[in-house]
Amino acid sequence: MRSRNIEMRLRYSGIPFRKTVEQFDFSFQPSIDRNTINDLFTLRFLHNKENVVFLGLPGVGKTHLSVAVAMQAIYSGIMTYYIPAVKPVQVLKRDFSEMRLNYRLSTYSKFHLMIVDEIGYLPLTREDSNLFFQFVSSRYENRSTIFTGNKSFSERGEVMGDQVMASAVLDRILHHCTVVNIRGESYRLKDRKKNSLQTFREVKKDE
Ligand code: ADP
Ligand code: MG
Repeated sequence: MRSRNIEMRLRYSGIPFRKTVEQFDFSFQPSIDRNTINDLFTLRFLHNKENVVFLGLPGVGKTHLSVAVAMQAIYSGIMTYYIPAVKPVQVLKRDFSEMRLNYRLSTYSKFHLMIVDEIGYLPLTREDSNLFFQFVSSRYENRSTIFTGNKSFSERGEVMGDQVMASAVLDRILHHCTVVNIRGESYRLKDRKKNSLQTFREVKKDE
């Protein structure tokens, strides 16, 4: 694909920043299985219409890795769209009230890859969960989606108002899915720790 075209697709994909897998320091997150990640970057999961879930505390690199996969997909000519998790629900809610829900869902289904980032930071009402369920169902075994979230989301669907709905959503997400559970510390915190140590040393030196 021509580079101007790629640049446009990167711009319209909605990714919040541009970072590649080469920029990811795997030594900082030893719990991540490199083979799993390498396999993701072959984009085989897209071909198989499977999902990916990145789990972990804030700052462990969930968005970074999702963005890196998204960029790889865009470079390979795959229609890709990134959204924060609250957005599809907001948009679907509006469309629902305007009776355009199916139209919106079919628009989303143009994207062979969607990244739904940070599920589970906002509790969903029953109506929201229903819309989210419709979104997940419309992509199930049809298109790939990368979800990121914290552990409680994957274990209990805690953020969804309704337990039955939550397990229906989770069943569909996890049926064909690679789960990458990042059990490590925040990368942001690492920098902060280093900086505060640096400051501490400087203060000591001045004394
Ligand atoms: P999360 O989405 O899990 O909250 P992010 O992916 O936004 O975390 O990561 C926070 C910041 O730290 C980003 O700037 C990201 O590029 C960087 N980062 C996180 N983990 C790593 C890592 N292992 N190597 C390099 N940079 C990282
Ligand atoms: Mg994030």
